[in-house]
Amino acid sequence: MSTRYLGFDVGGTKITGILSDSNGKIFKRKQVKTRKFLGPDALVDQIYTLSEQFDGYEEISVIFPAPISLDGRVLSAPNLRGWRNVNLKRKLTEKFGREVYLDNDATAQAISVKIFDKGKSYSNFIYVVNGTGIGGGIFINNKIYRGHNGYAGELGHMVVLANGPVCGCGRRGCIEALASGSAITRRVIENIKEVRNSTFLSSIPMNRLTTEDIFSGKKLGDPFSTLIIDEAVYYFSLFLSNIINIFDPEAIFLGGGVFKNGNEFINDIKQASFHDMGIYQRKVPIYKINDKTIDLAPVALAIYEKEEQNSN
Ligand SMILES: [Zn+2]
Repeated sequence: MSTRYLGFDVGGTKITGILSDSNGKIFKRKQVKTRKFLGPDALVDQIYTLSEQFDGYEEISVIFPAPISLDGRVLSAPNLRGWRNVNLKRKLTEKFGREVYLDNDATAQAISVKIFDKGKSYSNFIYVVNGTGIGGGIFINNKIYRGHNGYAGELGHMVVLANGPVCGCGRRGCIEALASGSAITRRVIENIKEVRNSTFLSSIPMNRLTTEDIFSGKKLGDPFSTLIIDEAVYYFSLFLSNIINIFDPEAIFLGGGVFKNGNEFINDIKQASFHDMGIYQRKVPIYKINDKTIDLAPVALAIYEKEEQNSN
């Protein structure tokens, strides 16, 4: 029987646990709401309690929505309260009484692209996830690139508009503040006059507005939805062309809620980022990942880390 993995994906709203094997076959899945205001110890307890609903696994891993240092510390977690320089890896290892693999969620998703998705065929690629925020992962010569401290791949905080809108990181004009799912909806909601003038947008309750609605608006020819999506395409393409200039990747992979139903969005981005390259124009394939690749990210992390340990 192949090795079985128990993986947890900690998000700002929910924690998902899955039991899977090394082929990515998922046997069981359980979800709870994140107790995000109670601090690190309560969260570790919550993961442990959830783990009691699973058995028959050999490895445990946790992925977390904030940068993680090489020794397992969380400097700060914007979506959760009470996280300042917490050694989460140590807390998890103590609680479980065994090694628990830990990494940032986007980094683990990039590893999952390599292990379970089209990334298998590429040695050098960039992964970008666009959902509530924008994150990423960098594969160089078949290895995830973590940087000096472990914080590499925070692609969402690349500034593409000097003095642009304020980002969660405290700076202005980061790509996350301009083209993430939450930025796209925020830019609509902020312009209440435009919403009132639009037959399409004024029919949607603004507290339930999704990026999917705005994509539909563009498809139906709504001028303000079109403007907002076209702006997001413009900045996202600028961002991708910067990434291509830095890394010269073989391929780029896109994941996350914004791309789920945005095939036209991806096509527009492909076209625009190609033209943004100026005289260095070249075709870099851009692919959308499978949904399951994100689900399997904690499992991919454990598989990758185990292989790394065995090869050292
Ligand atoms: Zn930022």
